[in-house]
Amino acid sequence: MSDPNALGYIVCHTCKEPKAIKQGSGKRSRFVHGRCSCGPDMRTGAAAQAEMKAYLPLEEVQAQLLAINTESEPKDEPNLTPSETKPVIEPETKSKPIEGQFIPKDEPEPKPMGATVCVGAGAVAGLILGYVFKSVRAAL
Ligand SMILES: [Zn+2]
Repeated sequence: MSDPNALGYIVCHTCKEPKAIKQGSGKRSRFVHGRCSCGPDMRTGAAAQAEMKAYLPLEEVQAQLLAINTESEPKDEPNLTPSETKPVIEPETKSKPIEGQFIPKDEPEPKPMGATVCVGAGAVAGLILGYVFKSVRAAL
């Protein structure tokens, strides 16, 4: 990785590798150029030149890259994943019908036997009441 001709290295945020900075030659002698896994970086713009001229020793760039990789990919470092990163499982919020509220169902065709049904219901209620009365009396 280290290049004897390199002036130094900068962090390449694209390939996450040290970019070797070298002094240009000939017409390009006043420019520096870089090379990393992205390929040759021959940009001569002021911003690119300023970025590449801020080169550092390889060890320092590797340390920066290690920090970047640790930040962006914590899953590769199982020892550095704290338990507080666990996703909070929210309890299911089921929409319960309100108790005690009578929701009438649609009955587009009222049955002609409705009266009979009412009588029948009354009879059933009477039976239940009678049963309850009997139970109460039996308990006494
Ligand atoms: Zn790169």
